[in-house]
Amino acid sequence: MVVDIINPYAVAVTQFDEAAERLGLSRSMRNILRAPKRELIVNFPVRLDNGDVQMYTGYRVQHNINRGPAKGGIRFSPEVSLDEVRALAMWMTWKCAVVDIPFGGAKGGVICDPHQMSRGELERLSRRYATEISILMGPNSDIPAPDMNTNPQIMAWMMDTYSMHQGYSVPATITGKPLAIGGSEGRLDATARGVQVVTKAAMRHLDMTPENSSVVIQGFGNVGGITARLLHESGCKVIGLSDISGGVYNPRGIDVPMAMRFSREHGSLRGLPGTEPVTNRELLELPCDILIPAALENQLTKENAGRVQARLVVEAANGPTNVEGDRILNENGIMVVPDILANAGGVTVSYFEWVQDLQHFFWSENEINQRLEAIMTRAFNAVMAKAVAQDTHLRMGAYLLAVSRVAEATELRGIYP
Ligand code: GLU
Repeated sequence: MVVDIINPYAVAVTQFDEAAERLGLSRSMRNILRAPKRELIVNFPVRLDNGDVQMYTGYRVQHNINRGPAKGGIRFSPEVSLDEVRALAMWMTWKCAVVDIPFGGAKGGVICDPHQMSRGELERLSRRYATEISILMGPNSDIPAPDMNTNPQIMAWMMDTYSMHQGYSVPATITGKPLAIGGSEGRLDATARGVQVVTKAAMRHLDMTPENSSVVIQGFGNVGGITARLLHESGCKVIGLSDISGGVYNPRGIDVPMAMRFSREHGSLRGLPGTEPVTNRELLELPCDILIPAALENQLTKENAGRVQARLVVEAANGPTNVEGDRILNENGIMVVPDILANAGGVTVSYFEWVQDLQHFFWSENEINQRLEAIMTRAFNAVMAKAVAQDTHLRMGAYLLAVSRVAEATELRGIYP
């Protein structure tokens, strides 16, 4: 019987194990790299607007810090769990290694539904969570950033909280901040811009041209929405979009700027003029050339991967394809640009933001975008070369590259004491 693993941490460990096996890593090295280095669980009270006090649970997990300080976002969602945060932290380690920036991997999350909270409640939750994890945070130790349902304002509150404890401003302790307080030009668009760079590079490999390529994107947040805009600007035909309210479809093409305006005004894409509604499930199976999951984990599994019609899947989300789903896509000859490469643009510009904050000297948006493109292109080419040399798919290519870099750093540093 084939077991369809949907626990994201089990998926992450399985992916790592396959790469470790192929690299011939020693048993001790495998044991070191498999385990998260630190896991902090915090339970903390927040005063609600009605005067009640509610307890929340949050996590911060550092997977590996041998290549540099722990780096990774913070998500606010009712679905957050320790295993999800562990998986996301491990993926951050490999992601930073694939693009070769000097960070280790971490992730954080709070179990909450930010859509049901007032701005004041959200601020108090963010500040108290920052206080709880401040024993790990620091510009040289652990640098959070936005992730699902968190944004520059929340980063500003967390940076301010950490700075209040220190008695002076420490902008480099968190990235994804607003520009006015040490944020970087280009950070908001960075993940989507990175997705655009690798999508175009993959298209060249498949001899696809923008004018002949139709695109379906799942998720219309910071990553999915901006990716849709950028690919539309590149000349691709975006035919399917979705958000939490469901999907919309128009085989002749969707006017993406209009969809963005509509979503801002109406709060969702539901009822977008000129489109027909589809479920999130149907969306992933639409006839298209490029499918971009930009929402949650575990969207392409053994249940639906066999019905994916795209030639190219670009994983803008973290962990959208589980192990079985991945096997099916590979068997069907679909090229998959894996998450740890495809969505690394976000953390790459976080790295630029951290460097700028540390040196108190800021770059122009043009410089940021050029450096981002150079890093993403270099990483794509390195992953492709590795995959070709090892006669394997891009995910394994990316893992072989990333895991060997982290293993090398671990080997060189040795075991303390
Ligand atoms: N949350 C983003 C990710 O999953 C960005 C992390 C960061 O910038 O540190 O890659």
